[in-house]
Amino acid sequence: MDLAQHIRNVPDFPSPGIQFKDITTLLLVPEAFQECIRLFKARYADNPPDAIVGVDARGFIFGAALAHDMGLPFVTARKKGKLPGDTLSREYALEYGTAIVEIHRDAISPGQKVVIIDDLLATGGTVAAVSHLIAELGAEVTEAAFVVELPPLGGRTHLAPMSVHSLVEFMVE
Ligand code: AMP
Repeated sequence: MDLAQHIRNVPDFPSPGIQFKDITTLLLVPEAFQECIRLFKARYADNPPDAIVGVDARGFIFGAALAHDMGLPFVTARKKGKLPGDTLSREYALEYGTAIVEIHRDAISPGQKVVIIDDLLATGGTVAAVSHLIAELGAEVTEAAFVVELPPLGGRTHLAPMSVHSLVEFMVE
């Protein structure tokens, strides 16, 4: 199945010059959504991680489906102020300004191996921050996996030496 054909490109959203890759059109096609989860599951079936970490908010869609399908714990990495328990926080740079991502301290145990799931890899700043929190909790990120990767934005290099996997690449300007 050609997953790329189900991802809509929206030019100049949310700001001029951005080619927004919209996965909501893929979610409207059950076979395409199922194919994403099937591909992720096949990749980790032989050597399952201890948990799946999904990144707020679109990473929850794919990460939760994968965790549910594999029978694994699902951990939410959330934007600041959403998690009610004792959290660890990490600030990271956005194109304009900064953002903060948080994780519950008791959601991950030292020595665990986890896979991070998000919808899209651009510069890698978001997942770098999430992986930093996971490392602070003494766990190991075995891989970060994405539905979409935008290779020209350099996320893979930013995240190195972390293992990075993606289902679809777009060579955006
Ligand atoms: P980054 O931290 O630069 O890798 O950005 C990744 C996060 O921003 C992901 O959670 C994406 O959902 C979102 N994002 C960044 N660029 C785009 C884009 N061109 N299209 C859709 N989502 C994007």
